[in-house]
Amino acid sequence: MKEKIAILGSTGSIGTQALEVIDKLSDKFEIVALSAGSNLELFEKQIEKYQPKYVSVKKDSDACELKSKFPNIDVMFGDVGLVSIANIKEVQMLLVAVSGKIGLKPTIQAIKNKKDIALANKETLVMAGDIVMKLAKDNGVKILPVDSEHSAIFQCINNGKNVKHLVITASGGPFRNSTKQEMENANLDEALAHPRWNMGKKITVDSATLMNKGLEVIEAHHLFDFAYDDIKVVIHPQSYIHSAVEFADGSVIAQIGIPSMHIPIQYALTYPDRVEGIETESFDFVKASKFEFYEPDYEKFPSLKLAFEVGKLGGTYPVCMNAANEEAVFAFLDKKIKYLDIYKITKQVFDSYKSIENASIEQILEEDEKIRIQTRKLIDEYKD
Ligand code: NDP
Ligand code: MG
Repeated sequence: MKEKIAILGSTGSIGTQALEVIDKLSDKFEIVALSAGSNLELFEKQIEKYQPKYVSVKKDSDACELKSKFPNIDVMFGDVGLVSIANIKEVQMLLVAVSGKIGLKPTIQAIKNKKDIALANKETLVMAGDIVMKLAKDNGVKILPVDSEHSAIFQCINNGKNVKHLVITASGGPFRNSTKQEMENANLDEALAHPRWNMGKKITVDSATLMNKGLEVIEAHHLFDFAYDDIKVVIHPQSYIHSAVEFADGSVIAQIGIPSMHIPIQYALTYPDRVEGIETESFDFVKASKFEFYEPDYEKFPSLKLAFEVGKLGGTYPVCMNAANEEAVFAFLDKKIKYLDIYKITKQVFDSYKSIENASIEQILEEDEKIRIQTRKLIDEYKD
């Protein structure tokens, strides 16, 4: 029997690559529902090709347009549309590949409905990791990581017995060898020129500041229930080792492969099976030849340091950092602020923030909104 799957964010970088994975495994998966934001041109092609029964888009007006073009499909919209997809009875697995906080509610709803989750969306665990992981445990639901580092750890960890450290690798991004002066003047194209991975714009800028690695540290803390002091970050520019686990006896198990998101996406979808899919070429150790490792420069990349601090503080501090950073990254993408202002703004918002303990999902989302308003005001001051 084919596994029935829904993809939130099918028009994005992860979403389109997930569909490429599924194209190769069409005997194993049936797409029941797809969701997009505003890229209707691509979404219509996906609907024609995959014939989902349910779809959702961001705006009401786009939903109306789709309804007239595809009268036999159930068309929904907005945040409610995403949650409705999580409620579809026949869906067995939900791939959460939307960007931003909109991933949170449908993920929670799908867990409550006992659907397994293939999780790409980082915000879900950064904002509400304690709630989400407890809910998944209580409902016997698997959270299968799609992020390459977490997929690597998941593959190495062997049920978490006698693990000493998690080692998360980072490429170091486009500014790994840049001076402070060069970073001061860095433009958008330079920040978006990621040396190894081809991803959405927001996460690409986060990879340049190493905030992405910081978010991944917080994700790893929740996914694998590890203390922050037992999570290490290592710069590995070649991105062949996707992350590693060190055991009590001194053994280190690392997961190696070409830098392709197809592999972790596929593993999340086919777990626990490994099947031949889209990446068929063998890993060539001789061609790869060089595996380098460096300590991260926490002075040059203070966002990573901040993420560790925020993670350890807990409460809604990670919500604050995530929201302030996201608003600042959007402002940088809109060319409203300079590259180094992203961290300055995030830190300034964090410094003035008071966290809430044991916040509910509603409180988390309220805090998120409050922080974003405050950050946008601050961005206006930076613009002047
Ligand atoms: P993209 O920006 O490429 O894609 C985001 C997707 O979400 C698109 O389908 C977009 O629709 C949709 N979307 C955005 N806003 C809304 C909204 N308000 N309502 C409905 N849909 C919306 O992002 P990525 O694929 O790069 O990343 C997705 C998530 O996965 C992020 O959380 C990211 O951190 C995480 N991730 C990504 C990795 C990667 O390699 N890209 C690696 C690991 C994690 P549309 O384009 O139609 O507007
Ligand atoms: Mg990653």
